[in-house]
Amino acid sequence: MILPERRVTLKSRHQVEQMRRAGRLVADVLDRVGDAIQPGITTLELDRIAEELIRRSGGIPSFIGVPGAGGPYRHSICVSIDDEVVHGIPGRRRIEAGQVVSIDAGAIIEGWHGDAARTFLVGDAPDEVRLLVAETRRSLFAGIEAARPGNTIGDISAAVEAVALEHGYGVLREYGGHGIGSEMHEEPFVPNYRGNGRGRRLEPGMCLAIEPMFTLGGPDVRVRADGWTVATADGSLAAHWEHTIAILPEGPEVLTVNGREERLSLEAGV
Ligand code: MG
Repeated sequence: MILPERRVTLKSRHQVEQMRRAGRLVADVLDRVGDAIQPGITTLELDRIAEELIRRSGGIPSFIGVPGAGGPYRHSICVSIDDEVVHGIPGRRRIEAGQVVSIDAGAIIEGWHGDAARTFLVGDAPDEVRLLVAETRRSLFAGIEAARPGNTIGDISAAVEAVALEHGYGVLREYGGHGIGSEMHEEPFVPNYRGNGRGRRLEPGMCLAIEPMFTLGGPDVRVRADGWTVATADGSLAAHWEHTIAILPEGPEVLTVNGREERLSLEAGV
């Protein structure tokens, strides 16, 4: 997301505790939607599963109403398939075997946000595609590991990018992670590539959504005619993983977890 300049807000221990609740719900949503992914289900059905769970749990889907070139967003999740990287809109399209399906979910509980994404493989996929999905996830955890007081945003970006460079993956430039808290998108922007400067220094109380987006081809993307869907310009496949974290004095804590082992994309669906 490209953001207007705003200040970074630091969260208190109590506020981080509130964000843990939203984060746990988002992890539950991704578990539930991941379990439902199988050939034949429509992306709108996946969205309904997510919205129902969020509302039944006392949350509000944070994506609904987000303004964009295609008008306000109307769904609870984004479902981005194959060459779509992020912001795919749920609809009548049916999931097919062999697809690469990224699910991005956000929820608000009592005013505090959680935001996370996982990429699922629907059944078998070539080794190259499995590796892309697994390594994009590994880069997320490399970025999280670098999210410590005293480091900078640039250290997170460099850690994420290093994994892409090992494999020659394309790294999106215009989209990346962001601050998060009482708003879904706050300062600072968290690029997935190393820039010129070191970037802002990390402090306890900063909460960030770190979200690597890698492609098997180049870094360039196009926004489709629907005004939302971001797809690779060269048609190459893409993967996207995201967690919301809090930077605590002792180091990073992942908030978008629920105590269950995160299901690996490779097992999804069939
Ligand atoms: Mg995000």
